[in-house]
Amino acid sequence: ADDYSQLLEERKAVIGRNLSISYRKPLKIVKGALQYLYDDKGDTYIDCVNNPSHVGHCHPVVVRAMQRQIATLNTNSRYLSDHLVEYAEELLRTLPSNLAVVYFTNSGSEANDLAIRMSRHFTGRKDVMVLDHAYHGTSTVAMEMSPYKFDGKGGFGQMPYIHKAVSPDLYRGEFRYDDPLAGEKYAIDVQQILEKNPGKIAAFICETLLGVGGQIPLPDHYLENVYKHIRAAGGVCIADEVQVGFGRVGEKFWGFELQDVQPDIVVLGKPIGNGHPLAAVVVTREIADAFNNGMEYFNTFGGNPVSMVTGRTVLQVIQSEQMQQHALETGNFLMEGLRDVMSKHPIISDVRGYGLFVGAEMVKDKTTMAPAVDEINAVVEKMKERGFLLSTDGPLYNVLKIKPPMVFNKQNAADMVRHLDEVLTELNF
Ligand code: PMP
Repeated sequence: ADDYSQLLEERKAVIGRNLSISYRKPLKIVKGALQYLYDDKGDTYIDCVNNPSHVGHCHPVVVRAMQRQIATLNTNSRYLSDHLVEYAEELLRTLPSNLAVVYFTNSGSEANDLAIRMSRHFTGRKDVMVLDHAYHGTSTVAMEMSPYKFDGKGGFGQMPYIHKAVSPDLYRGEFRYDDPLAGEKYAIDVQQILEKNPGKIAAFICETLLGVGGQIPLPDHYLENVYKHIRAAGGVCIADEVQVGFGRVGEKFWGFELQDVQPDIVVLGKPIGNGHPLAAVVVTREIADAFNNGMEYFNTFGGNPVSMVTGRTVLQVIQSEQMQQHALETGNFLMEGLRDVMSKHPIISDVRGYGLFVGAEMVKDKTTMAPAVDEINAVVEKMKERGFLLSTDGPLYNVLKIKPPMVFNKQNAADMVRHLDEVLTELNF
């Protein structure tokens, strides 16, 4: 790290001290190719964690399409463009038919912000219900919807129009894996918040697998019940698919499909542009009509030709390379391997996920469930030294998150699992 100390100091001086950086000894990554990243020393890393590079870093088909378009035209969406309409149509074909209109933005935060605004127009209400460890982004409104931030270190606290429902955590929560009715029971909290706030809640928003909240799959029937309660109370149901969507969960293309529900608004981000700033809000025609109230909507970069061509190509690559099926098979293989490691090392207490959206929780002791924070950081650091990039998440910072580019293969998974086993042995965990 010493050779980077000057660059690190310069970075802090000119771009702020709170822009976080991965790893105690930071990496200087200079090149990416599919699931591999390369540093300035020529070392190769298997990327197990960067999900925005959905079809792989610098995927050649995507890069070529982007190069062609950027050399031809990039401007705002105030001119007619085939790319804009064609991509919107292709995106809509992946979604249930109730979702009919797409608004393009440049980041997940911006998209969530717009989704909330649209739900407020539609309902004439202001309040929003979120899950209690959620993260929905970094714009001011998105931060207000993110307990992970407003309740966290340096947070500004909860706004009066935000309501927090309990996260349905089957490992740590009140209702656990052994309770077949957990989904219904967790939804009661949502119902009670609605009863206490009649006519106030414009929208309920959650991820369809909790990401920053700890890589938590939702219990069966959870969203079905939540959406029923929200709709009965006149609110709008928003699915934040910024991390979960676009084939990653394997069994389905969208996370909400795992719960057998149809949201009124779906928010997209990270994977759809493969690392290029592209995000979207997809809404029902009724919500779009309410938003179209005379005020112009314009977004300088939203829907620009380079973004549209990028998005279309990413979608085509997912389909032509059958990445959803690949994520399912590789993810199942990976989780099997992780469960083997769990059986040998008591520090791992839970392995969970769908497809290539996987979490492994680490505790000091299985009875107290005390989070093994220093320990997990040591594991992440050692794995990095062995060439595997991982990270942590969760309200207690003790969940190993594994969300590699979708081209991550079984050999990568087997290697990662073997090294994890060795690192845990080395550290006596
Ligand atoms: N929603 C979720 C679920 C996220 O995880 C994130 C980013 N981590 C966002 C929204 C915000 O997206 P962005 O960083 O692109 O603004």
